[in-house]
Amino acid sequence: MRVFPGSRAEAEGAGVSTDSLTKDNWGEATKLVRGGLERSEFGETSEALFLNSGFVYPDGETAAARFAGEDDGYIYSRYGNPTVSMFEERLRLLEGAEACFGTASGMAAVYSSLACQLKTGDHIVASRALFGSCFQIITNILPRFGIEYDLVDGKDLDAWRAAVRPDTKCIFLETPSNPTLEVIDLAAVSEIAHKVGARVVIDNVFATPILQKSLQFGADIVIYSGTKHIDGQGRCLGGAVLSTKEFKEDELKPFLRHTGPALSPFNAWVLLKGMETLKLRVTQQSGAALQVAEALQETAGVSRVLYPWLDSHLQAELCRAQMTGGGTVVTFDVEGGRQRAFDLMRRLSIIDISNNLGDSKSLITHPASTTHRNIGEEERARVGIGEGMLRVSVGLEEPEDLITDLSQAITSTQ
Ligand SMILES: *Cc1c(COP(=O)(O)O)cnc(C)c1O
Repeated sequence: MRVFPGSRAEAEGAGVSTDSLTKDNWGEATKLVRGGLERSEFGETSEALFLNSGFVYPDGETAAARFAGEDDGYIYSRYGNPTVSMFEERLRLLEGAEACFGTASGMAAVYSSLACQLKTGDHIVASRALFGSCFQIITNILPRFGIEYDLVDGKDLDAWRAAVRPDTKCIFLETPSNPTLEVIDLAAVSEIAHKVGARVVIDNVFATPILQKSLQFGADIVIYSGTKHIDGQGRCLGGAVLSTKEFKEDELKPFLRHTGPALSPFNAWVLLKGMETLKLRVTQQSGAALQVAEALQETAGVSRVLYPWLDSHLQAELCRAQMTGGGTVVTFDVEGGRQRAFDLMRRLSIIDISNNLGDSKSLITHPASTTHRNIGEEERARVGIGEGMLRVSVGLEEPEDLITDLSQAITSTQ
């Protein structure tokens, strides 16, 4: 436990811990409840919310030492804040990473993790099936600064091998992908990347920090949208970048400090409280998603169900090797295209129409007209997003109710 200046813990000496119970050895559930907790001198039970932008110094010498990097106290909440630090440390422990930096949103995490290390003339290879805004960053925003890219079918290892070049600095991917839930072999792609000295940046949002430990498969940088799952209760935005200490200190931190997509202390506090129940929620939601996927497979009018834990998934074996559950999202196709999909959504009585995901409330979206509208018809066809495709984010309601809601809606639109 790091000790605040002036706290009772500092006066009495920090708590003792035995080797087997150091926080890095804690079980996941313990890390999620207690990881990063730093109590003030008031001894509050729950994490304190330090809703302040700046910090004061006892004297000029201390201020000078902080600016010189000789004293690691706080300077300004754009650089760091105690509540934000607690969130970063909790997620760092869960992920098993050396370092973590909280950001204002998942997209701030994606953009800054790439922009901080790329320069004009660099090359990036990304999987084609990406979250809409990630696709925009790689194909529209970064190219404006002279960063070249190639997109590949993430499942095709030969395509990755053919696309990497000596000047490839980063590989960016998402697994499972949105919304088709394709799974990419992280260990194999990491090996291909590392051969040319490229770093692997993975958007681990769909997998969740509970169900896929990407660093163990060779990823270098892991990105989260805290909005999904970590808050997971529809309250606030947030994000995080997990990496080595060296990457955080030398590349990420200078970029984030000066460009400013800082995580609000209030949002960090919400995310901290969300993490306390993260494992319970994700385990429950992932189990419910499997039930929903299995039920959809048996429903007339559904032509295809995509879910990583189904035996029918094209990469079922890889899913089980790389993940410990299928995740909270199920995607399916209905016969009858967009009209049937829209009719069906209108008839749902529990599941809400929303493009968000990883929430305690079950949500459904029609990717072709919403999240994947901007990538255009040709690109949608390439990644297999049809007009009859629907994506369901399975929440915490009774799985039976969700199955009834979906099957009634599907059947009544026949
Ligand atoms: C939501 C999401 C993001 C972006 O996160 P925000 O917090 O909304 O900025 C990035 N990648 C994936 C896969 C997502 O689902």
